[in-house]
Amino acid sequence: MNTDVLIVGAGPTGLALGIDLARRGVDALVVERDGTLFPGSRGKGLQPRTMEVFDDLGVLGAIHAAGGGYPVGMVWQDGERLGEHSMFDPAEPSEDAPYNEPWMVPQWRTQEILLARLQELGGAVAFGREVVGLTQDADGVTARFASGEPVRARYLVAADGGRSAVRRALGIGMTGETVDPSPVLVADVRISGLDRDNWHLFPPRGDTGFLAVCPLAGTEDFQVTAQFPEGTDVDLTADGVRKVVADRSHLAPEDVTEVRWASDFRPRAALADRFRAGRVLLAGDAAHVHSPAGGQGLNTSVQDAYNLGWKLGAVLAGEAPDGLLDSYEEERRPVAAGVLGLSTGVHRGEVRRGDATRQLGLGYRESSLTAETRTLPDGALRAGDRAPDGTVDGVRLFDAFRGPHWTLLALGSEAPPMPESVPVVRGPGHGAYGTGLFLVRPDGYVGWAGEDTAGLGGYLARFGLV
Ligand SMILES: Cc1cc2nc3c(=O)[nH]c(=O)nc-3n(C[C@H](O)[C@H](O)[C@H](O)COP(=O)(O)OP(=O)(O)OC[C@H]3O[C@@H](n4cnc5c(N)ncnc54)[C@H](O)[C@@H]3O)c2cc1C
Repeated sequence: MNTDVLIVGAGPTGLALGIDLARRGVDALVVERDGTLFPGSRGKGLQPRTMEVFDDLGVLGAIHAAGGGYPVGMVWQDGERLGEHSMFDPAEPSEDAPYNEPWMVPQWRTQEILLARLQELGGAVAFGREVVGLTQDADGVTARFASGEPVRARYLVAADGGRSAVRRALGIGMTGETVDPSPVLVADVRISGLDRDNWHLFPPRGDTGFLAVCPLAGTEDFQVTAQFPEGTDVDLTADGVRKVVADRSHLAPEDVTEVRWASDFRPRAALADRFRAGRVLLAGDAAHVHSPAGGQGLNTSVQDAYNLGWKLGAVLAGEAPDGLLDSYEEERRPVAAGVLGLSTGVHRGEVRRGDATRQLGLGYRESSLTAETRTLPDGALRAGDRAPDGTVDGVRLFDAFRGPHWTLLALGSEAPPMPESVPVVRGPGHGAYGTGLFLVRPDGYVGWAGEDTAGLGGYLARFGLV
């Protein structure tokens, strides 16, 4: 078996990368240890930046249809509603940032949507294929399945989750800490006797931890989370889930009519020491794990894939040297390190969910791929920043950006002749951009910006665009 890119793991990271490579015509294969997609709701909060990525990957409509906004929290005590508790600082949609609030879709549903899109693009997942070892040489990677069968690829991406077998096989360390030693139960259940208008919060009492029951948008399920004292062996049976709900709320055990999935975890914050070893790249939870508080894990993972997809595409097409792939770790590891601190802060109640958790302010100003040729005042949009949306001369920018290409914006500035592969949007100065020339990367960040064309040709040549 041979492929250009072997993607190990069909979680959100592997599926998003599979889509991005499929739309570029890259020969890639996603392999998954399990026989089916992951069945639980765990990463249910899609942040505004991920919604923008999903818009580009062609799944936004399905994601919108499958989910809903977050309901406001309702604090309960002794069967009485004590009052509402807002989990997020509000944000209005704007022309620059049309997706303002996190959107709730259970992770299993997001994965189904991503798989359907991958298949629509001609890609596939090989289920029941566990990678158990690998070796690499100057030309590629040979991985071995549990069946003993080998598979050869030019590059391998470890998207195999927090316990990544690939990361371990490479001997790459994971440096970090336990955020909270108290285990947390997470379960998808059906409940009668609880409305779906609120995220129901039952605060800790005595030595029992909290219970939270969140209606899962687009389904009839609720997601139950419950914290236990350190050292507890959490009972994951249906009766165990019924008991914790009954012990910590006004509900009776039989009000939990069905337990569809249950698991437990201890929040950790850890970062892989490297994101690249030769022809192997680590992405998603394989590269960083954090507390689920603040809903960052799945989002950061999808954005890893989005950063890597166009780079792998350019290198495999011979348009850019292999060194371009070093910029993946250079750009994504600092982002992941920041997200670790943010998630731990939200977990400990020191940081609120707001601007930072929406991930719209993340960017790559310090990256070696970023070229800003102007002198700008503080606060101005510059190369390395996310390219905002907007409408220029009747053209919506996110429509112009959608697809695997780079885009040149010529705003109040004459557009130079460009290769056919780089569409140009022309118009007057606009919004946060102001005036100038802006070359927008395939992943929606401004790569190069200038008042005139000086330096643009050299920049385009780095990526084989001229
Ligand atoms: C309770 C909970 C709540 C969460 N809430 C949020 C949230 O609101 N928002 C958010 O952004 N994130 C959240 N997260 C985090 C989110 O679930 C993860 O960050 C996300 O699943 C990471 O995706 P991934 O594709 O990198 O890894 P995974 O989803 O772990 O997928 C890895 C895949 O690789 C497969 N695999 C493993 N080993 C092998 C192998 N050797 N060979 C082949 N296949 C293999 C696995 O079977 C799996 O399908 C939450 C997590 C938890 C536990």
